[in-house]
Amino acid sequence: MTSSPHVAIIGAGTLGMATASNLCAQGARVTVLEANGLASGSSGRSVGVVGTQFTDPFDIMLRTHAIRQFRDWESKGFKFNHIGYLRLARTEAQMALFEQSVRMQAEAGFRSRVYRAHELTQLVPHMSADGLAGGIFGPDDGFIDPYELCNFLAEEVRAKGAAVRQACKVLGVKRVAGGYLLETTKGAIGCDIVVNAAGAWARQVAAMFGQELWVHPERHEAISIHLDRPLDYVMPMVMDLVNGEGTGLNFRHEKSTELIAEVHKVKSREPENPDAYNDQCDEDSKVDLAEMLLERVPDLPGASLGRGWAGLYPVTADHRPFVGPIDMSEPTLVTAAGAGGYGIQLSPVIGQVAADWALHGAPVSAPGTETLRPTSDRNRPVSPT
Ligand SMILES: Cc1cc2nc3c(=O)[nH]c(=O)nc-3n(C[C@H](O)[C@H](O)[C@H](O)COP(=O)(O)OP(=O)(O)OC[C@H]3O[C@@H](n4cnc5c(N)ncnc54)[C@H](O)[C@@H]3O)c2cc1C
Repeated sequence: MTSSPHVAIIGAGTLGMATASNLCAQGARVTVLEANGLASGSSGRSVGVVGTQFTDPFDIMLRTHAIRQFRDWESKGFKFNHIGYLRLARTEAQMALFEQSVRMQAEAGFRSRVYRAHELTQLVPHMSADGLAGGIFGPDDGFIDPYELCNFLAEEVRAKGAAVRQACKVLGVKRVAGGYLLETTKGAIGCDIVVNAAGAWARQVAAMFGQELWVHPERHEAISIHLDRPLDYVMPMVMDLVNGEGTGLNFRHEKSTELIAEVHKVKSREPENPDAYNDQCDEDSKVDLAEMLLERVPDLPGASLGRGWAGLYPVTADHRPFVGPIDMSEPTLVTAAGAGGYGIQLSPVIGQVAADWALHGAPVSAPGTETLRPTSDRNRPVSPT
């Protein structure tokens, strides 16, 4: 391998493009291979929320790395909508975790505050606090447009000499001396290192290399809510889920007369076929979502359901992403996949760690993230229940 290895990244979603950005920053030669278009997979179907309101130190540490890069991209002109993020609590035990989170976040340089149930209307005047103990709010969190992020990063890496090849599907692979020959719909492409950033297709891509990778395509649906007059405040991201407890309902401002709502929890974990799933929101799901919303924000002015869509969370058994080689005897085949419902907000740190594995053989810039490698104890089937 040369001092400037040629890395091929399979997949131009947020994980692939963030990996390309981190590799180019370190001088690698990069080719991104995308079967369709930029952000055409899960990334373009997401709700784009980025936040740090978590209670686990590891989750906050990952986001510390991610937010540093988002701020850097923002300083270069990328748009980050700082609408704030409110995570709701139903129990005093959850509120105690939130108090700890405020301290951990402050150490990491993030602003956040705990609100008691009766104070929640300061943030969301239409909120019903029924059944709630309170919430944690981070004013600097918000949302981004993942399609814009992929395009912003594509422009950045092209300016550094990388190639981003769309409509270029990887069909197969040959191992050759010192690297790989990838067979694609646009001919053969040689490289030293491969990063599998194929999202819900990552299992299929790993299989081309004779490796088993348990990334499970899980269906999720989102819907826009139209309001017949503008709210006189910005609806922050509101999330009713703490460490798996809560309904999973989440909603946020999109425009002054439009919200976007989603349910983070699923009823069925049956895997979808990423090449042939119904990408529209089911009617039953729309009704369920409307009922949950009515309960939490009962008097939204003239709210009606708008366009709905479905997409896939690329999920792992322990709900943490896979970053690193599956097989340490083949360190030139790096996985960056399985980010579940957090692949937009975690894409910068996953890209950073994947680039470390590709160029340095270890996650040198983010100590503690070795645990994200798809080791045999983590890389196992996802239970469908
Ligand atoms: C409804 C919904 C809401 C969500 N909301 C959020 C949110 O608010 N915040 C958040 O952080 N996350 C959210 N997510 C999750 C997030 O969208 C995913 O975790 C993330 O997009 C995964 O990115 P990725 O790059 O791994 O995969 P993808 O974006 O799917 O990219 C993989 C790419 O690989 C390409 N590919 C596959 N096979 C091949 C091949 N053989 N050759 C070449 N290319 C190939 C595909 O075409 C695809 O473009 C949401 C997801 C959904 C569905």
